[in-house]
Amino acid sequence: MRRERVSDDIYVFTSDLYAQVTASAVVTRDGIVVIDTLPFGVETLEMIGYLNSLGMGPIKYLVNTHWHGDHINGNYLFDDSVELVCHKKCQQAMQEFAPFALDEAKETTPLLEEAEIRVPNVVFEDGKMVLHVGNKSVEVALTPGHTWDSTVAYVREDKVLLAADTVMPVPYFVWGDRHKFKESLDALRNYNLESIVQGHGEVLLRGEIPMAIESSISYLNVLEEKVTEIVEKGKGKRVLNQLTIDDCGKSRIPLNGLVQDLHRANAYALYDELMGNNG
Ligand SMILES: [Zn+2]
Repeated sequence: MRRERVSDDIYVFTSDLYAQVTASAVVTRDGIVVIDTLPFGVETLEMIGYLNSLGMGPIKYLVNTHWHGDHINGNYLFDDSVELVCHKKCQQAMQEFAPFALDEAKETTPLLEEAEIRVPNVVFEDGKMVLHVGNKSVEVALTPGHTWDSTVAYVREDKVLLAADTVMPVPYFVWGDRHKFKESLDALRNYNLESIVQGHGEVLLRGEIPMAIESSISYLNVLEEKVTEIVEKGKGKRVLNQLTIDDCGKSRIPLNGLVQDLHRANAYALYDELMGNNG
């Protein structure tokens, strides 16, 4: 697990074990808000141990940004005194899908053996909710796209966006909706930002943010254009393998190259979608 600070009071923890998943913590003397867990218990426990060692407030809230296992499978490791918080849509998705996803993951991943799903019971149904802890306001907002239940958390005082999978080195929409994704990315331009903590990979600094948002929206547009062309020419699915992530304007390097797999999955999902629409 890698640990860094993006402001005086915000810590970011990045998994060494799986896909550079990030979790974050907003730390005050009166309490700590944690955003997401790490994929495996061993790293989530290391994060909790570190936060407790700071001698600041206790962990008060754990916010889940969306239902995917790599961000929620550590929920069960938090004390019962910690309030688990998420959007209503996330609660529903976790009840419906997360237990099956975890069972499936356990078959191939010994590190998940002890993991169990713990679903948040504090939910909000509007587009936005604000948690107040100490002198910090953490604004959680619905940003569908990566999944239907995706949210981001904005720390107003620090101008830091804990974006989870709404901002990744490549937008990954296989479980969500690429149209909503573009709207959600576009809406991020309204925030006043010093940095963005992505759900996977490096923290984005102020100067990098406009380009990151622009290139993600452009990626979605270019991918649509290119896959549409392949579908219209009646070409088979295998042609998609020749459509590289570079062709769509994103680097193939982040997440140790895993972005290329995410890109390929995007292309296949979009192809199926367009074929469906064409009857
Ligand atoms: Zn995800």
